[in-house]
Amino acid sequence: MSEALAATQLAGQGGDSPVRHALRRLSVYLRRNARFYLLWFFVVLLYVASFNLLPLAVGWAIDGLVEGVPRAEVFRRCWILFGIAVGGGLLRFFSRQLVFDAAREVEYEIRNDLFAHLQKLPQSFFFRWRTGDLMSRCVNDLNSVRMLLGPGLLSVAQSPILFVGAFLAMSTLSLKLAILMMLPYPAFILISRVLGSRLYSRSLAAQQSLSSMSNFVQENVAGIAVVKAYAMERDQADRFEEANEALRERSLELVRTSAAMPAVTGLLPAVGLALALWVGFGEIQAGRMGTGALFSFTIFARQLTFPTFIMGYAISLMQRGASAMQRIDEILSVMPSIRDEAGSVDLERIAGRIEFRGLTFRYDDASRAAALDGIDLVVPAGTTVGIVGPVGAGKSTLASVIPRLFEVEDGQLFIDGVDINRIRLASLRRAIAMVPQDSFLFSMPLRDNIAYGLPADVPFERIETAAQRAQLARDIEDLPHGYDTLVGERGIMLSGGQRQRTALARALALEPSILILDDTLSAVDADTEQRIQAELDRLFAGRTVVVVASRVNSVRKLDQIVVLDGGRIVERGRHAELIAKGGVYARLAAEQAAEETRAERERRLIGEGLGRAVGEGA
Ligand code: ADP
Repeated sequence: MSEALAATQLAGQGGDSPVRHALRRLSVYLRRNARFYLLWFFVVLLYVASFNLLPLAVGWAIDGLVEGVPRAEVFRRCWILFGIAVGGGLLRFFSRQLVFDAAREVEYEIRNDLFAHLQKLPQSFFFRWRTGDLMSRCVNDLNSVRMLLGPGLLSVAQSPILFVGAFLAMSTLSLKLAILMMLPYPAFILISRVLGSRLYSRSLAAQQSLSSMSNFVQENVAGIAVVKAYAMERDQADRFEEANEALRERSLELVRTSAAMPAVTGLLPAVGLALALWVGFGEIQAGRMGTGALFSFTIFARQLTFPTFIMGYAISLMQRGASAMQRIDEILSVMPSIRDEAGSVDLERIAGRIEFRGLTFRYDDASRAAALDGIDLVVPAGTTVGIVGPVGAGKSTLASVIPRLFEVEDGQLFIDGVDINRIRLASLRRAIAMVPQDSFLFSMPLRDNIAYGLPADVPFERIETAAQRAQLARDIEDLPHGYDTLVGERGIMLSGGQRQRTALARALALEPSILILDDTLSAVDADTEQRIQAELDRLFAGRTVVVVASRVNSVRKLDQIVVLDGGRIVERGRHAELIAKGGVYARLAAEQAAEETRAERERRLIGEGLGRAVGEGA
């Protein structure tokens, strides 16, 4: 767990409601940035002072005119007015800057923690959660949290201070008028709340339409081959039109709501103005107030419009931000089930002895049969084992528990005699390289894909040797930029076989004590597989190797072979022994041999047929 994340793990979370739990987590980040917020509060106070000083200064300047002060004094008052306006502008700038910076900082920290946390979660977590959902939490929800902390907090925290300040300032001119002016504001705030939430929900709806439309485009571009193969172009275009129509509708609704805003916001200062004139007139006549004060009140009425109306929107931002934080908190609260326990040991050098002792494993769905059932198996260090069996027999599962991709119970799996659950993950994964069935390449240069998992300063020779051993070097020579060729998203620029061999090279470059190949060579053509097989002795020398294979041919030379069926070991031995035994393995071998002979005969017949056809044609 990263230190930053450790600091945000919450103690005593028992009875909290989810949203309170989320806000408590958020408050940890806020406290960490408390210095920003303290400074911000100070700047806000200064800003509110200048904000309220301005109307007072206007009134003062006008009083000067009414009283006929000398021209120089009028100028002086104008300069002061100007100074207050400039100062207020600067303070406003700093206040926004501070709070937006703090929001970005918190967003940055949460995003880092979230990503680091996701990396620690076991594979089983990713089977349960949809990618789109996770992406949306990491991107959209985090954005909403930033809006909560930025514009949301800015106006929700600042407005009350502004109102109190304005009331105090106005009451120095006329308490009666100040109270009267303030009376309609609760109603205004209510209206702004309704309008704000409508504006908010409409902009959200428009955003959602836009994102579902972009998803649609993305999926169509990615699946264009299928669209064309099934002649679905017209159909897809119609569906796109529907999505586009929905977006237009929602955008129009948004435009209508935002167009209504200025009409209503225009009304607000008018009410204040009318009040000021009507009541102010009487006050002036009675000699309780000067002309300048009347001007001040009209300016106050105008100035309070924006903070009032933005408040409704800001409250919606806060609500939305809180539920977004709840969704993020849901992920951050998932404890990584596979982690180092206290007392885990760091194995400096793993020799590679693997021992399964009655290992039984089932995936989360408890109603289904165990994927592995009472496996007893010893693979001495430096030896090789082949795992064969029908689809769904549990071969991949058996391979995946060795690097602890899935959690097994204590006392069932040992590496070098140490219970796997007690070995520090870092030392375990340093010693094991696994080439999964569906090897994933990143959209980076080939060289970096091979060096993945190695320190940045690894000598190039190590990468080159790994590529040669994986029979990839010749392909690399043919690539436009050799080792610097960008392989595209998921390695799209390479053939299936090249992708598998790159993944193999990546595993070899690690120089692991334990190498696990999960049906690695299934997409490699027969010739290349033969070349790799010929190299195997060198590849495997000094390592423990686990080869999961669907083809008997891939395991025939290995030290021991295990046949799995329905999660159990049904046969074990060396190739010759298993063939002699005449059981499952022998049948599998015979079937595959017959298939290969048939394929070979077909190839020959086609060849001969073609030859004859050419001959007859001549
Ligand atoms: P094999 O590699 O021999 O084809 P697997 O190890 O992939 O077999 O699968 C063994 C059993 O476990 C199968 O019944 C399969 O459906 C199930 N299984 C595999 N992966 C998962 C998973 N992530 N969640 C639930 N069940 C799984």
